[in-house]
Amino acid sequence: MAIEFSKATEEAEFYSPMADFDLDSQPVEYRRDPLTGQQTRVVAQWFPEADEADAEPDVGDGEDCFFCPEMVDEATPEYPDYVGTDRGSRGEATSFPNLFPYGTHSNVVVLTEDHFRPVGDLPADILADGLACALAYVHAAIDHDGSQFVSINMNYLPPAGSSVVHPHLQAIVDDHGTNGMRRRLDAERDYHADTGDTYWAALLDEEREGSRYVGRTGGVEWLAPFAPTAQYHVTGVPDVTGVPDPEDSVLADIAAGIENVLAFYDDRGLDAFNFALQLVRDEPASPAVVDVVARPAFEEGYVNDVFYLQALHDERVVDVPPEEYAPEVAAFF
Ligand SMILES: [Zn+2]
Repeated sequence: MAIEFSKATEEAEFYSPMADFDLDSQPVEYRRDPLTGQQTRVVAQWFPEADEADAEPDVGDGEDCFFCPEMVDEATPEYPDYVGTDRGSRGEATSFPNLFPYGTHSNVVVLTEDHFRPVGDLPADILADGLACALAYVHAAIDHDGSQFVSINMNYLPPAGSSVVHPHLQAIVDDHGTNGMRRRLDAERDYHADTGDTYWAALLDEEREGSRYVGRTGGVEWLAPFAPTAQYHVTGVPDVTGVPDPEDSVLADIAAGIENVLAFYDDRGLDAFNFALQLVRDEPASPAVVDVVARPAFEEGYVNDVFYLQALHDERVVDVPPEEYAPEVAAFF
């Protein structure tokens, strides 16, 4: 089944103060995600790009930070008995339950002993240890109750929704999934039932020679999606389904790609980001997928990029199309 890349461009007209009040127009492009049909608007100008002159974020010195090594053992919770350990650890990473859980099983993985790392200093080995630490907990949760939906997520810096600047991941494991995971899974199952193929394998076949392909890190291929979810969205498709073992070498491959995407963000002066690695158990239609998006840079008076379209309309908006930024990301692969 051919993958459909559907888009249409409209023109919004006005008499412009920038052109002596002559009639002017700006394009608004409407794109549909080929898998889910969700709409993304590509507009002329919107995303609050970084202000180079104000590049020193106020991150504090770690005093009173619950995730710093001096505090973590006293201030963070310990796992329930089925996990088999009070807290997890792997390299510099330390994991414990989320004191404010988002799902049946919900934890935090602190990535570094350092209170703060610039976005360009979150290397693959740190990220891979964090993912492995998260997966050790994920497997304990699955063994305990057979939950189907897993995600390993990161908010980095306040513009990305993080209340703690200390670098950390959050895993969620439950039988409910998120709206996004269930919508994606339903569409993946439909595609698989129709074609016998996974959507993601077919997408990579379609995109590998095209303008949105970014590159490969071992067993993971990366591209800029046709209808991005948010600014500078990059998607990685690992060659695994289900929930990888913490020892699986694909974790280093995923981490290497994330490091490369973060190097691209850093190069643009963007230091805040989100990523989500989505995993569904026992579902051949649904391989692992990791999505990384940029958020506004953490600087005084930064402007949030979630407004009524995302908050209330479940709509997506970007101002750089994937065909334009994919080659720039590819330069870091
Ligand atoms: Zn800290």
